[in-house]
Amino acid sequence: MSTRLVLLGTAGGPTPKRSRSAPAQAVVVGSATYVIDCGNGVGRQLALAGIGFDSLRAVAVTHHHSDHNADLGNLLLLAWAANLATPVDVYGPAPVAEMMDAYLTFARTDIETRIDDEGRPDLRALIRAHDLAGPGPVHEDDNVRITAVRVDHPPMDAYAYRIDTADRSIVISGDTRPCPALVELARGADILVHEAIHLPSLDLPLSQTNGTRLREHLLGSHTTPADAGKVAAEAGVATLVLSHLVPADADIPDEVWAAEARRNFTGEIIVGADLMTL
Ligand SMILES: [Zn+2]
Ligand SMILES: [Zn+2]
Repeated sequence: MSTRLVLLGTAGGPTPKRSRSAPAQAVVVGSATYVIDCGNGVGRQLALAGIGFDSLRAVAVTHHHSDHNADLGNLLLLAWAANLATPVDVYGPAPVAEMMDAYLTFARTDIETRIDDEGRPDLRALIRAHDLAGPGPVHEDDNVRITAVRVDHPPMDAYAYRIDTADRSIVISGDTRPCPALVELARGADILVHEAIHLPSLDLPLSQTNGTRLREHLLGSHTTPADAGKVAAEAGVATLVLSHLVPADADIPDEVWAAEARRNFTGEIIVGADLMTL
């Protein structure tokens, strides 16, 4: 049974983009799907990728910036309205369990109508939401073992995830500045999907607005492709995938992203694109 990684969305930031969808990844093992991050449009991207909604087993968000969680509830509701009828574990930093409860209250009219009108099972009984207790093991079943570490993405409580399957190890950085915990998590992994910001492309737009605070956040809470290359090299991963690209709509050629990372990493470098399967 071979493991597939599908990049569902490769843009960073909450504003909907014309060229890339918001952050989300699917790891598919046989007939089971594990989704990491639920940016806006994640359900549509699953449909475009041809991944069955009834295959969802677990969903984890790295942190609660809206580019990563805007469609967490929507994904589950819409999957259920399609054909999801089996339990799904949901993981994320606190208060993700409370957030799911609030979302299910928001969706109550639809849920109760479809139970009565279409004979659907109760979605509320299918969702098992868990606040992450801290770094360590997150989820284990017949297909995967998911582990988390806390990363550096101030002021958010943010995590990176590692998914180990029978044939592969895949690490998703989420949002972070370069951090030792991520290097340790990614040690020897087959694939590291790492966020990247292209600072030269941000200078002009930010200088034209009141971008100083935003620039400070970007520098203090995110990673350049060169530093992502350094993290990949230190961790000894085989393949570095640059994703969560900021700015996403700037038409920066793939070679520009890759060349920066190449300065520090001699392994395979892939510039992520929506619906790319690895
Ligand atoms: Zn983000
Ligand atoms: Zn973030």
